[in-house]
Amino acid sequence: MIIAIDGPGAAGKSTVAKLLAQKLNYTYIDTGAMYRCLALYALRNNIDANNVEGLIKASEDIEIFLDESNKVFLNNEDVTLAIRHPDVSRLASPVSCPRPVREIFVTKQRNLAKKAINGVVMDGRDIGTVVFPDANIKIYQVASCDERAKRRYIENVAKGINVPLEKIKEDIEKRDYTDMNKGYGALKKASDAIELDTTNMSIQEVVDFIYNKVLESK
Ligand code: C5P
Repeated sequence: MIIAIDGPGAAGKSTVAKLLAQKLNYTYIDTGAMYRCLALYALRNNIDANNVEGLIKASEDIEIFLDESNKVFLNNEDVTLAIRHPDVSRLASPVSCPRPVREIFVTKQRNLAKKAINGVVMDGRDIGTVVFPDANIKIYQVASCDERAKRRYIENVAKGINVPLEKIKEDIEKRDYTDMNKGYGALKKASDAIELDTTNMSIQEVVDFIYNKVLESK
């Protein structure tokens, strides 16, 4: 069973995906965290977002590990917090543009899914369109830009990251634009995905909605 959750940044996908995976006892795979690892590696090693060769090599070289408690490891270092830094968020979108980079990551994502025991909840931008076009359930999770900025702001405060709400909104709009205009793996709703506007929904309501879809499909 593969559940694909796609949608724009800060729409609450990972929160929902984590809870859903827990409830179903499935493996959760956060593909955004994987591209964030590449962005962090690029930042640290001065690989420019336009240096496609450098990004391809980095994508091949880096080892990413997602553990059961949703910690993220880059070359054996725990980078769970580091990849949430606003500089990494900004760079994750451009570094994930080149097609060869995406192809390497799509292979990594499919391989991680193969190791799952019960089922997989995978969230990202192109899961239902590229990574698993035959996913059993596809959700396209959206929310208004204001609501997403508010959610990211609250999340940041909890993590001790201090960025004004207006700046977050601006970053989200920029990221939406880059994500929707990638030549390959662009953010778009798969034709057979269920679109879920979560602007006025609680996290639990979203989790329950998808959970019921899973039960119906069994
Ligand atoms: O989901 P998250 O905000 O952590 O993703 C960070 C960035 O990684 C996104 O802005 C997007 O550009 C990129 N991404 C992607 N494809 C995915 C997941 C994330 O291009 N499947």
